[in-house]
Amino acid sequence: MKTDNYAVFGQPISHSKSPRIHKLFAEQTGQLMDYVAQEVPAENFTAATTHFFAEGGKGLNCTVPLKELAWQYADQLTERARQAKAVNTLARQADGSILGDNTDGIGLLNDLTVNHGIELKGAKILILGAGGATRGIVPPLLEQQPSALVIANRNVGKAQTIAADFAALGEMQACDYASLIDRQFDLIINATSASLSGDLPPLPAALLNTGGSCYDLAYANQATAFVKWGLANNAAHSLDGLGMLVEQAAEAFYIWRGVRPQTTPVIGLLNDERELNSTN
Ligand code: NDP
Repeated sequence: MKTDNYAVFGQPISHSKSPRIHKLFAEQTGQLMDYVAQEVPAENFTAATTHFFAEGGKGLNCTVPLKELAWQYADQLTERARQAKAVNTLARQADGSILGDNTDGIGLLNDLTVNHGIELKGAKILILGAGGATRGIVPPLLEQQPSALVIANRNVGKAQTIAADFAALGEMQACDYASLIDRQFDLIINATSASLSGDLPPLPAALLNTGGSCYDLAYANQATAFVKWGLANNAAHSLDGLGMLVEQAAEAFYIWRGVRPQTTPVIGLLNDERELNSTN
């Protein structure tokens, strides 16, 4: 039997855990596939992607800074990818055309609700940041019928654009950080890239309701600045994005292979590995 080829493109990419995750999924489900990480700058994206599929590649993940380019590249888009205007998964179809999907939103939703039992219906949700990741997570969060969804960003115009683009799906408010004073939320999601450099947006005290939770889309070997903020503010859960990463990968794996891998053992293994790394 032939081994099918998959890859993740991005820049930087050497830190990516995706090859490890897909290798674990393939072992678990008995799929014959290879998955590699390839450094691809934005200016090479089209040529590299065309070459990959021309050589028989079956599917690609695209990460920073390529998700919008992948959205433009795809021949067809799923509804959630069309809405997000960002694609993290490309799949070659039987007729040779390329399907673009965005599995980030469902990845976050599964980690919050299935893995951690966090109730979103009726919750007051705050998203920090208005970049590509926010576009991917807004539609599935709105589907859960929160009582409020607020997007705060340094550049308020970007938050307003997202609120307007998704207005048909539900009501959202856009604001800057200063306007968060005297507001409280049940779930605060950090979708800024500030955590990666150890920074945090300016957050007022008492922003998190008693019993509320914090979720940082970013992940690292140590607790991120926002995970630490959640712990310092007595969050019931203060989580980083490792679970989301595994869940979005599982959804991509299902699109490519038609088989749903179990995520719990993979999340457990990756968590054990990073605990080891952080103590070494
Ligand atoms: P973008 O570059 O598209 O957006 C970055 C956002 O962060 C912008 O809203 C920007 O604000 C804001 N920001 C950056 N630095 C600061 C700062 N110092 N203070 C306040 N705001 C800041 O990134 P993405 O949306 O693609 O990704 C966001 C995060 O989500 C990244 O950390 C990424 O790794 C993570 N991610 C994790 C996934 C997972 O599976 N766990 C999946 C997808 C993303 P402004 O607009 O004002 O410049």
